[in-house]
Amino acid sequence: MDIKKLISKISKVYSMDIKISEEVANLLKDNGLKAEEMEKVIKDAEESGKKLESKDGSKCLAKAEDDNLTCYALYSASNGGFSLDSGYAHKMKMVGPTGGEFNVEAADEADWICKKCNENAIEANVDMTYLGVTRPGNAIVCPKCGDMYLGEDMVPTIKGAEGILEEKRG
Ligand SMILES: [Zn+2]
Repeated sequence: MDIKKLISKISKVYSMDIKISEEVANLLKDNGLKAEEMEKVIKDAEESGKKLESKDGSKCLAKAEDDNLTCYALYSASNGGFSLDSGYAHKMKMVGPTGGEFNVEAADEADWICKKCNENAIEANVDMTYLGVTRPGNAIVCPKCGDMYLGEDMVPTIKGAEGILEEKRG
């Protein structure tokens, strides 16, 4: 890509309009997340194409991962920009498929497509590590690039597991 195209792409991404309703802003607060963090997750995903898109095309799920936390933005296109529908995070770190590899044939197809690979995502167990303990958990996985995402429905389960492990350590 030449530099002019790159600059135009970047400026397009950084002028991106991202709406966050009051309800979602309160949810972020409850989950200890900042609006700016969520905006960055969306911008990075739109720039890189690294995200899941629902099969009906209505929603996207993107994530940002550092050593301690994985943050997710669930968002949708709205009036030429985007609107954040939900944000959540987990401290457990996804390390890879439980048992060493994903059994793609036996797995259920998820309602998501990996945009980077244009591949149907599957539902699969992945190993999650936190405070020295590894547990399997259900995740949405791209069988091609191996990207792993936590669906919003799994948040209470993973939060519960984190709480138990923190208590055990304490
Ligand atoms: Zn992929």
